[in-house]
Amino acid sequence: MQAVLVLSNQMPLSFRCSRSDEIADTLRYIPGSSLSGGLAASHSRLCPLRKEEFARFFTSGKIHFGNLYPANFESKELDGDTLPVRSLPATSRSCKRFSGFRFNADHDDEERHGVSDHLILWTLFALNNKTNTQVLEASETCSYQIDNKNCGESITPFNDGFYRHGYTPEAMGISKIPIRVLTRTGISRARHAVSESILYNLEVLEENQKFQGTLHCEDESLWDAFASFLETASEQELIYLGNSRTRGLGKLRVTYKEKIDRDDEMPEQIKQRVITFSEKLKETARTYNLNAPHSLYIPVTLESEVILRDALMRHQTAITRVYLERKWGLSGMEPVCQFVTTRRVMGWNALAKLPRADDVAMAMGSVFLFGYNGAADDRLWKILSDIQGQGIGERREHGFGRVVIADSFHTEVNER
Ligand SMILES: [Zn+2]
Repeated sequence: MQAVLVLSNQMPLSFRCSRSDEIADTLRYIPGSSLSGGLAASHSRLCPLRKEEFARFFTSGKIHFGNLYPANFESKELDGDTLPVRSLPATSRSCKRFSGFRFNADHDDEERHGVSDHLILWTLFALNNKTNTQVLEASETCSYQIDNKNCGESITPFNDGFYRHGYTPEAMGISKIPIRVLTRTGISRARHAVSESILYNLEVLEENQKFQGTLHCEDESLWDAFASFLETASEQELIYLGNSRTRGLGKLRVTYKEKIDRDDEMPEQIKQRVITFSEKLKETARTYNLNAPHSLYIPVTLESEVILRDALMRHQTAITRVYLERKWGLSGMEPVCQFVTTRRVMGWNALAKLPRADDVAMAMGSVFLFGYNGAADDRLWKILSDIQGQGIGERREHGFGRVVIADSFHTEVNER
Protein backbone atom coordinates (compact mmCIF):
# COMPACT_ATOMS: atom_id res chain seq x y z
CA MET A 1 0.00 0.00 0.00
CA GLN A 2 1.00 3.61 -0.47
CA ALA A 3 0.68 6.77 1.59
CA VAL A 4 1.20 10.44 0.83
CA LEU A 5 3.45 12.42 3.13
CA VAL A 6 3.73 16.21 3.19
CA LEU A 7 6.31 18.01 5.33
CA SER A 8 6.76 21.73 5.88
CA ASN A 9 10.09 23.21 6.96
CA GLN A 10 10.31 25.70 9.83
CA MET A 11 14.03 26.21 9.23
CA PRO A 12 16.10 26.43 6.03
CA LEU A 13 17.15 23.08 4.53
CA SER A 14 20.36 22.01 2.87
CA PHE A 15 20.97 18.77 0.97
CA ARG A 16 24.51 19.08 -0.36
CA CYS A 17 24.92 17.84 -3.92
CA SER A 18 28.71 17.58 -3.71
CA ARG A 19 31.48 16.74 -1.26
CA SER A 20 33.59 19.55 -2.69
CA ASP A 21 34.65 22.41 -0.39
CA GLU A 22 34.04 24.84 -3.24
CA ILE A 23 30.44 23.97 -4.09
CA ALA A 24 27.76 24.44 -1.43
CA ASP A 25 24.69 24.03 -3.67
CA THR A 26 21.65 22.23 -2.38
CA LEU A 27 19.39 19.73 -4.13
CA ARG A 28 15.93 21.20 -4.86
CA TYR A 29 14.09 18.34 -3.13
CA ILE A 30 14.33 16.06 -0.09
CA PRO A 31 15.98 12.77 -1.12
CA GLY A 32 14.36 9.59 0.18
CA SER A 33 17.68 8.59 1.78
CA SER A 34 17.77 11.83 3.83
CA LEU A 35 14.13 11.34 4.81
CA SER A 36 14.78 7.78 5.95
CA GLY A 37 18.01 8.69 7.79
CA GLY A 38 16.54 11.77 9.48
CA LEU A 39 13.43 9.93 10.65
CA ALA A 40 15.58 7.05 11.91
CA ALA A 41 17.52 9.56 14.05
CA SER A 42 14.20 11.00 15.34
CA HIS A 43 13.04 7.49 16.26
CA SER A 44 16.28 6.78 18.17
CA ARG A 45 15.80 9.95 20.22
CA LEU A 46 12.08 9.51 20.78
CA CYS A 47 11.97 5.83 21.72
CA PRO A 48 15.52 4.45 22.06
CA LEU A 49 14.34 1.17 23.58
CA ARG A 50 12.04 0.10 20.74
CA LYS A 51 14.78 -1.63 18.72
CA GLU A 52 12.40 -4.05 17.04
CA GLU A 53 10.17 -1.25 15.80
CA PHE A 54 13.23 0.65 14.57
CA ALA A 55 14.30 -2.35 12.50
CA ARG A 56 10.79 -2.77 11.05
CA PHE A 57 10.59 0.89 10.03
CA PHE A 58 14.09 1.63 8.81
CA THR A 59 16.29 -1.38 8.10
CA SER A 60 13.97 -4.23 7.04
CA GLY A 61 13.15 -2.66 3.65
CA LYS A 62 9.42 -2.97 4.43
CA ILE A 63 8.96 0.78 3.99
CA HIS A 64 10.22 2.49 0.83
CA PHE A 65 10.84 6.19 1.47
CA GLY A 66 10.21 8.22 -1.68
CA ASN A 67 11.80 11.57 -2.50
CA LEU A 68 9.74 14.54 -1.32
CA TYR A 69 9.38 17.13 -4.09
CA PRO A 70 8.63 20.84 -3.58
CA ALA A 71 4.86 21.46 -3.61
CA ASN A 72 4.51 25.24 -3.46
CA PHE A 73 1.56 26.05 -5.69
CA GLU A 74 -0.55 29.15 -5.19
CA SER A 75 -3.41 28.32 -7.53
CA LYS A 76 -6.36 26.53 -5.88
CA GLU A 77 -6.61 24.10 -8.81
CA LEU A 78 -3.08 22.88 -8.08
CA ASP A 79 -3.06 22.99 -4.30
CA GLY A 80 -4.15 19.53 -3.17
CA ASP A 81 -1.99 17.45 -0.85
CA THR A 82 -2.75 14.17 -2.63
CA LEU A 83 -2.01 15.42 -6.17
CA PRO A 84 1.40 13.99 -7.18
CA VAL A 85 4.36 16.28 -7.85
CA ARG A 86 6.74 15.07 -10.55
CA SER A 87 10.03 15.99 -12.12
CA LEU A 88 9.61 17.53 -15.59
CA PRO A 89 10.52 14.99 -18.30
CA ALA A 90 13.69 15.61 -20.32
CA THR A 91 11.52 15.89 -23.45
CA SER A 92 9.62 18.95 -22.18
CA ARG A 93 10.17 22.18 -24.18
CA SER A 94 9.09 25.81 -23.95
CA CYS A 95 9.73 29.30 -25.36
CA LYS A 96 13.27 30.51 -24.64
CA ARG A 97 12.12 33.97 -23.58
CA PHE A 98 8.73 33.39 -21.94
CA SER A 99 8.85 29.83 -20.65
CA GLY A 100 6.24 28.05 -18.56
CA PHE A 101 2.75 26.57 -18.58
CA ARG A 102 0.08 28.95 -19.87
CA PHE A 103 -2.32 27.98 -17.09
CA ASN A 104 -3.05 30.97 -14.81
CA ALA A 105 -0.38 33.14 -16.48
CA ASP A 106 -2.75 36.14 -16.56
CA HIS A 107 -3.65 35.67 -12.93
CA ASP A 108 0.04 35.52 -11.98
CA ASP A 109 0.63 38.58 -14.20
CA GLU A 110 3.36 36.75 -16.10
CA GLU A 111 3.89 36.11 -19.79
CA ARG A 112 4.26 32.37 -20.39
CA HIS A 113 4.09 30.89 -23.87
CA GLY A 114 3.25 27.30 -23.03
CA VAL A 115 4.96 23.94 -22.68
CA SER A 116 4.95 21.02 -25.09
CA ASP A 117 6.41 17.54 -25.05
CA HIS A 118 8.65 16.60 -27.98
CA LEU A 119 9.05 12.86 -27.38
CA ILE A 120 6.82 11.85 -30.29
CA LEU A 121 8.61 14.20 -32.72
CA TRP A 122 12.07 12.97 -31.71
CA THR A 123 10.93 9.34 -31.86
CA LEU A 124 9.71 9.83 -35.44
CA PHE A 125 13.01 11.48 -36.30
CA ALA A 126 14.91 8.48 -34.85
CA LEU A 127 12.63 5.95 -36.57
CA ASN A 128 13.25 7.53 -39.97
CA ASN A 129 17.04 7.20 -40.08
CA LYS A 130 17.53 10.63 -38.48
CA THR A 131 17.36 12.22 -41.93
CA ASN A 132 13.95 13.84 -42.07
CA THR A 133 14.39 17.09 -40.18
CA GLN A 134 11.01 18.46 -41.26
CA VAL A 135 9.38 16.91 -38.21
CA LEU A 136 11.76 18.76 -35.88
CA GLU A 137 11.77 22.06 -37.76
CA ALA A 138 8.05 22.45 -37.15
CA SER A 139 8.73 22.81 -33.45
CA GLU A 140 11.90 24.89 -33.46
CA THR A 141 10.30 28.27 -32.88
CA CYS A 142 7.59 29.51 -30.55
CA SER A 143 4.20 29.80 -32.24
CA TYR A 144 2.49 31.75 -29.45
CA GLN A 145 0.43 34.55 -30.99
CA ILE A 146 1.30 38.15 -30.09
CA ASP A 147 -0.78 40.71 -32.05
CA ASN A 148 -1.60 38.05 -34.65
CA LYS A 149 2.08 37.27 -35.18
CA ASN A 150 4.15 34.29 -34.07
CA CYS A 151 6.43 34.99 -31.11
CA GLY A 152 9.28 33.41 -33.12
CA GLU A 153 11.73 32.89 -30.24
CA SER A 154 13.51 29.53 -30.22
CA ILE A 155 12.13 26.58 -28.30
CA THR A 156 14.49 25.29 -25.61
CA PRO A 157 14.48 22.51 -23.02
CA PHE A 158 12.14 23.16 -20.12
CA ASN A 159 13.03 20.24 -17.93
CA ASP A 160 14.48 21.70 -14.76
CA GLY A 161 11.84 21.68 -12.07
CA PHE A 162 8.81 19.96 -10.62
CA TYR A 163 5.26 20.16 -11.93
CA ARG A 164 1.82 19.18 -10.81
CA HIS A 165 -1.25 18.30 -12.86
CA GLY A 166 -4.30 19.77 -11.16
CA TYR A 167 -7.98 18.91 -11.03
CA THR A 168 -8.80 20.09 -14.57
CA PRO A 169 -7.01 18.98 -17.80
CA GLU A 170 -5.45 22.39 -18.45
CA ALA A 171 -4.37 23.00 -14.85
CA MET A 172 -0.60 22.47 -14.81
CA GLY A 173 2.04 24.43 -13.01
CA ILE A 174 5.60 24.52 -11.76
CA SER A 175 6.36 24.54 -8.05
CA LYS A 176 8.13 27.58 -6.70
CA ILE A 177 11.40 26.66 -4.95
CA PRO A 178 12.69 29.70 -3.02
CA ILE A 179 16.40 29.41 -2.24
CA ARG A 180 18.94 31.78 -0.72
CA VAL A 181 22.59 31.79 0.25
CA LEU A 182 23.58 31.92 3.91
CA THR A 183 26.95 33.29 4.89
CA ARG A 184 28.33 31.95 8.15
CA THR A 185 31.48 32.24 10.19
CA GLY A 186 33.38 29.39 11.78
CA ILE A 187 33.41 29.16 15.60
CA SER A 188 36.69 28.50 17.36
CA ARG A 189 36.43 25.44 19.59
CA ALA A 190 39.04 26.84 21.97
CA ARG A 191 37.64 30.35 22.40
CA HIS A 192 33.95 29.79 21.53
CA ALA A 193 34.12 32.95 19.46
CA VAL A 194 34.44 33.68 15.75
CA SER A 195 37.32 31.80 14.22
CA GLU A 196 39.64 33.93 12.13
CA SER A 197 39.61 33.46 8.32
CA ILE A 198 36.76 30.95 8.31
CA LEU A 199 33.85 32.39 6.35
CA TYR A 200 31.65 30.18 4.19
CA ASN A 201 28.52 30.21 2.04
CA LEU A 202 25.75 27.69 2.07
CA GLU A 203 22.89 27.54 -0.41
CA VAL A 204 19.62 26.61 1.34
CA LEU A 205 15.96 25.97 0.58
CA GLU A 206 14.06 28.77 2.34
CA GLU A 207 11.65 28.27 5.24
CA ASN A 208 7.92 27.50 5.04
CA GLN A 209 7.92 25.37 1.91
CA LYS A 210 5.91 22.20 1.44
CA PHE A 211 7.47 18.94 0.22
CA GLN A 212 5.36 16.05 -0.94
CA GLY A 213 6.03 12.40 -1.80
CA THR A 214 4.84 8.84 -1.36
CA LEU A 215 5.87 6.03 0.93
CA HIS A 216 5.36 2.40 -0.04
CA CYS A 217 4.52 0.24 2.99
CA GLU A 218 4.33 -3.54 3.14
CA ASP A 219 0.91 -3.49 4.80
CA GLU A 220 -1.60 -1.23 6.52
CA SER A 221 -0.74 -2.18 10.10
CA LEU A 222 2.87 -1.17 9.49
CA TRP A 223 1.69 2.16 8.06
CA ASP A 224 -0.62 2.77 11.06
CA ALA A 225 2.30 2.23 13.47
CA PHE A 226 4.60 4.41 11.37
CA ALA A 227 1.97 7.18 11.05
CA SER A 228 1.57 7.23 14.82
CA PHE A 229 5.38 7.59 15.23
CA LEU A 230 5.38 10.43 12.65
CA GLU A 231 2.67 12.27 14.55
CA THR A 232 4.51 12.06 17.88
CA ALA A 233 7.88 13.00 16.34
CA SER A 234 6.28 16.01 14.65
CA GLU A 235 4.47 17.14 17.83
CA GLN A 236 7.67 16.89 19.84
CA GLU A 237 9.61 18.80 17.15
CA LEU A 238 12.10 15.99 16.62
CA ILE A 239 12.16 15.85 12.80
CA TYR A 240 15.41 17.23 11.36
CA LEU A 241 16.63 16.43 7.85
CA GLY A 242 19.63 17.27 5.70
CA ASN A 243 23.01 18.90 6.33
CA SER A 244 24.06 21.44 8.96
CA ARG A 245 21.47 20.33 11.50
CA THR A 246 23.69 21.57 14.32
CA ARG A 247 23.85 25.03 12.75
CA GLY A 248 20.17 25.93 12.88
CA LEU A 249 19.00 24.11 9.76
CA GLY A 250 16.75 21.21 8.91
CA LYS A 251 13.67 21.30 11.17
CA LEU A 252 10.37 20.11 9.66
CA ARG A 253 6.91 19.10 10.73
CA VAL A 254 4.35 16.75 9.22
CA THR A 255 1.38 18.58 7.70
CA TYR A 256 -0.33 15.68 5.90
CA LYS A 257 -0.10 11.89 5.98
CA GLU A 258 -2.79 9.63 4.54
CA LYS A 259 -3.16 6.31 2.76
CA ILE A 260 -3.97 6.56 -0.95
CA ASP A 261 -5.27 4.26 -3.68
CA ARG A 262 -3.17 4.61 -6.82
CA ASP A 263 -4.92 3.15 -9.82
CA ASP A 264 -2.36 4.43 -12.36
CA GLU A 265 -0.32 1.28 -11.74
CA MET A 266 -3.10 -1.14 -12.74
CA PRO A 267 -2.44 -3.20 -15.92
CA GLU A 268 -5.63 -1.85 -17.53
CA GLN A 269 -4.63 1.80 -17.01
CA ILE A 270 -1.13 1.15 -18.36
CA LYS A 271 -2.58 -0.61 -21.40
CA GLN A 272 -4.81 2.41 -22.12
CA ARG A 273 -1.91 4.85 -21.80
CA VAL A 274 0.40 2.79 -24.05
CA ILE A 275 -2.33 2.48 -26.71
CA THR A 276 -3.11 6.21 -26.52
CA PHE A 277 0.59 7.08 -26.90
CA SER A 278 1.10 4.64 -29.80
CA GLU A 279 -1.98 5.92 -31.64
CA LYS A 280 -0.92 9.54 -31.23
CA LEU A 281 2.59 8.70 -32.50
CA LYS A 282 1.21 6.91 -35.56
CA GLU A 283 -1.23 9.72 -36.29
CA THR A 284 1.66 12.23 -36.18
CA ALA A 285 3.69 9.90 -38.45
CA ARG A 286 0.86 9.97 -41.04
CA THR A 287 0.73 13.78 -40.85
CA TYR A 288 4.41 14.01 -41.78
CA ASN A 289 4.33 10.98 -44.11
CA LEU A 290 6.87 9.07 -41.99
CA ASN A 291 7.28 5.42 -40.96
CA ALA A 292 6.27 4.04 -37.56
CA PRO A 293 6.81 0.31 -38.09
CA HIS A 294 6.20 -1.12 -34.57
CA SER A 295 2.80 -2.18 -33.32
CA LEU A 296 3.31 -0.39 -29.98
CA TYR A 297 5.53 2.37 -28.62
CA ILE A 298 6.27 2.28 -24.91
CA PRO A 299 7.90 5.26 -23.14
CA VAL A 300 9.52 4.75 -19.73
CA THR A 301 10.00 7.99 -17.80
CA LEU A 302 12.12 8.17 -14.64
CA GLU A 303 10.24 9.71 -11.72
CA SER A 304 13.31 9.50 -9.51
CA GLU A 305 16.96 8.67 -10.06
CA VAL A 306 17.67 5.08 -11.12
CA ILE A 307 20.76 3.03 -10.24
CA LEU A 308 21.16 0.01 -12.49
CA ARG A 309 24.15 -2.28 -12.82
CA ASP A 310 24.98 -4.87 -15.44
CA ALA A 311 26.16 -8.43 -14.75
CA LEU A 312 29.71 -7.12 -14.12
CA MET A 313 28.42 -4.60 -11.52
CA ARG A 314 29.14 -1.63 -13.77
CA HIS A 315 26.72 1.28 -13.52
CA GLN A 316 24.44 1.47 -16.55
CA THR A 317 23.42 4.68 -18.27
CA ALA A 318 20.41 3.23 -20.07
CA ILE A 319 17.55 0.79 -19.56
CA THR A 320 18.63 -1.89 -21.98
CA ARG A 321 16.89 -4.67 -23.84
CA VAL A 322 19.14 -7.19 -22.00
CA TYR A 323 18.09 -5.82 -18.61
CA LEU A 324 14.38 -6.06 -19.45
CA GLU A 325 14.82 -9.66 -20.65
CA ARG A 326 17.01 -10.80 -17.78
CA LYS A 327 15.19 -9.13 -14.90
CA TRP A 328 11.57 -9.01 -16.07
CA GLY A 329 11.37 -11.72 -18.76
CA LEU A 330 10.19 -9.07 -21.18
CA SER A 331 11.56 -9.73 -24.66
CA GLY A 332 11.04 -7.80 -27.89
CA MET A 333 11.54 -4.31 -26.42
CA GLU A 334 13.57 -2.47 -29.03
CA PRO A 335 15.23 0.78 -27.88
CA VAL A 336 14.38 3.57 -30.33
CA CYS A 337 15.62 6.70 -28.60
CA GLN A 338 16.55 7.96 -25.16
CA PHE A 339 16.93 11.27 -23.36
CA VAL A 340 19.18 10.58 -20.43
CA THR A 341 21.63 12.42 -18.19
CA THR A 342 23.56 10.92 -15.31
CA ARG A 343 24.31 12.18 -11.82
CA ARG A 344 26.78 11.09 -9.18
CA VAL A 345 24.87 10.13 -6.04
CA MET A 346 26.59 10.57 -2.71
CA GLY A 347 25.34 9.75 0.72
CA TRP A 348 26.13 9.41 4.36
CA ASN A 349 25.39 6.34 6.42
CA ALA A 350 24.27 7.87 9.72
CA LEU A 351 24.30 4.54 11.55
CA ALA A 352 27.87 3.66 10.58
CA LYS A 353 28.93 7.36 10.57
CA LEU A 354 30.67 6.74 7.26
CA PRO A 355 30.20 8.06 3.73
CA ARG A 356 28.36 5.74 1.36
CA ALA A 357 30.14 4.63 -1.80
CA ASP A 358 29.25 6.90 -4.72
CA ASP A 359 26.80 5.63 -7.31
CA VAL A 360 26.19 6.79 -10.85
CA ALA A 361 22.47 7.17 -11.44
CA MET A 362 20.33 7.99 -14.45
CA ALA A 363 18.77 11.33 -13.59
CA MET A 364 15.10 11.86 -12.81
CA GLY A 365 13.14 13.04 -15.84
CA SER A 366 15.16 10.85 -18.25
CA VAL A 367 12.99 9.18 -20.91
CA PHE A 368 13.50 5.88 -22.79
CA LEU A 369 11.35 4.96 -25.76
CA PHE A 370 10.92 1.34 -26.87
CA GLY A 371 9.28 -0.06 -29.98
CA TYR A 372 7.42 -3.36 -29.44
CA ASN A 373 6.23 -5.92 -31.98
CA GLY A 374 5.52 -8.85 -29.65
CA ALA A 375 2.20 -10.06 -28.30
CA ALA A 376 0.17 -7.30 -26.65
CA ASP A 377 -1.46 -9.65 -24.17
CA ASP A 378 -2.28 -9.64 -20.45
CA ARG A 379 1.24 -10.83 -19.64
CA LEU A 380 2.76 -7.70 -21.19
CA TRP A 381 0.47 -5.34 -19.26
CA LYS A 382 1.11 -7.26 -16.02
CA ILE A 383 4.90 -7.01 -16.44
CA LEU A 384 4.71 -3.30 -17.26
CA SER A 385 2.48 -2.67 -14.24
CA ASP A 386 4.94 -4.60 -12.04
CA ILE A 387 7.83 -2.48 -13.37
CA GLN A 388 5.96 0.71 -12.47
CA GLY A 389 4.63 -0.64 -9.16
CA GLN A 390 7.87 -2.12 -7.86
CA GLY A 391 10.39 0.20 -9.47
CA ILE A 392 13.75 -0.81 -10.94
CA GLY A 393 17.36 -1.02 -9.84
CA GLU A 394 19.04 -0.48 -6.49
CA ARG A 395 18.18 1.43 -3.30
CA ARG A 396 14.46 1.52 -3.96
CA GLU A 397 13.88 1.75 -0.20
CA HIS A 398 15.52 5.19 -0.43
CA GLY A 399 13.33 6.51 -3.24
CA PHE A 400 15.48 5.45 -6.20
CA GLY A 401 14.16 3.54 -9.17
CA ARG A 402 10.64 4.92 -9.55
CA VAL A 403 9.42 4.94 -13.13
CA VAL A 404 6.21 5.73 -15.02
CA ILE A 405 5.17 3.67 -18.05
CA ALA A 406 3.63 5.76 -20.85
CA ASP A 407 3.37 8.93 -18.75
CA SER A 408 0.38 10.91 -20.01
CA PHE A 409 2.62 14.03 -20.01
CA HIS A 410 3.96 12.85 -23.39
CA THR A 411 0.51 12.84 -25.00
CA GLU A 412 -1.39 15.52 -23.11
CA VAL A 413 1.05 18.41 -22.85
CA ASN A 414 1.02 20.35 -26.07
CA GLU A 415 0.41 24.07 -25.61
CA ARG A 416 2.14 25.01 -28.87
ZN1 LIG B 1 7.40 32.62 -27.19
